[in-house]
Amino acid sequence: MQKVRVKLRKQADNSYDILIGSGLLSKVPSDLKKSKLGNKYAIITDTNVEKLYAKDFLRNFVMNRLDTYLLRFNAGEQQKNRQTKAYLEDELIDFNFTRDSVVIALGGGVVGDIAGFVAATFNRGIPYVQVPTTLLAMVDSSIGGKVAIDHPLGKNLVGAFHQPKKVFIDLDILKTLPKREILNGLAEIIKHAVIADKEFFGFLDKNMEKILSADSKLMEKTIKRACEIKARVVEADEKESGLRKILNFGHTIGHAVEALTNFQISHGEAVSIGMVKEAQLAKELKLISQKDVDKIKAILEKAGASTKLPIGIRHKDIIKKTLLDKKVRGGKVEYSLPLRIGKVKHGIPVPDKIVSKVIK
Ligand code: NAD
Repeated sequence: MQKVRVKLRKQADNSYDILIGSGLLSKVPSDLKKSKLGNKYAIITDTNVEKLYAKDFLRNFVMNRLDTYLLRFNAGEQQKNRQTKAYLEDELIDFNFTRDSVVIALGGGVVGDIAGFVAATFNRGIPYVQVPTTLLAMVDSSIGGKVAIDHPLGKNLVGAFHQPKKVFIDLDILKTLPKREILNGLAEIIKHAVIADKEFFGFLDKNMEKILSADSKLMEKTIKRACEIKARVVEADEKESGLRKILNFGHTIGHAVEALTNFQISHGEAVSIGMVKEAQLAKELKLISQKDVDKIKAILEKAGASTKLPIGIRHKDIIKKTLLDKKVRGGKVEYSLPLRIGKVKHGIPVPDKIVSKVIK
């Protein structure tokens, strides 16, 4: 027998900056021009964001003499599928995009996830930058390199890890975001505080009204801290082999509720309910105090989120749905549960009878 070894041990520096501020959108082309990421640019967006921002955004690329094309697909989670990915890839090929091209994801988490996944596989991987336009995308989905599409049997079932080269967060974009979408982002921001930062939780609690009224200074501070928390978690565990799972707090029951209501309630509402129910599971397991559970519920209510399960959802259905979750190991659902505000532990199996008790 002969043996040939393929030595691939290497250390790569995939670090990147997240820029946060007002009026950043217009600065993206000149910044990209300086960074020399590629020679040809594909702005990928959805039809809603196209109407609001994409035309001016594209014009700035053209004014900077950057060879740029605009690709769009219909807005909505239903479009985060194989067909849309194939359509975008066909367009890139038609327009002669090659390895020296750059994808720009201009939109919410749907655009970011699908455009990032296109970039991860096109020509075996090309660079991309994130220009998030929803609060959720700003503080969560644009950071960390998880890119994916949905499958009829589940969300994000096909995807990759592909880190962006830069993230540009323009606070002015939030002005057109509907209230429901602000709430989706706020639920994730509150989650970040519960998992990692008691002081930030206190700051959110104290300033919730002003944050909701879109006070730009407070929003900037809030987004920056939320991004820092997400960044620190991703730095510690890029490929979600351990610690990154703490970001799933509220999402095991949240995803089940989302699916059982046929996605009639928003992701933020579902995660909010999920966080309260999972905090109650932690209380049943004697991991957290009742006082902290109450505080989690109270801050979510202050943010205007629902914390009660929609009528008609049965505990049995929730248990069944959670078993389909990606967080199942050896037939057991593993939860990420809070020990106190600012500390969450992952990989906790919870007996069905405790889940039933809390849901009932
Ligand atoms: P979304 O992308 O569907 O955006 C919500 C709606 O807001 C859409 O109709 C969109 O067109 C519109 N919109 C976007 N920006 C706007 C603006 N500035 N003004 C007005 N309307 C605007 O939803 P989302 O909540 O941003 O993202 C949800 C997706 O993110 C899900 O697919 C989820 O799986 C994914 N996600 C990914 C990660 C990750 O780590 N990759 C993390 C969390 C969520």
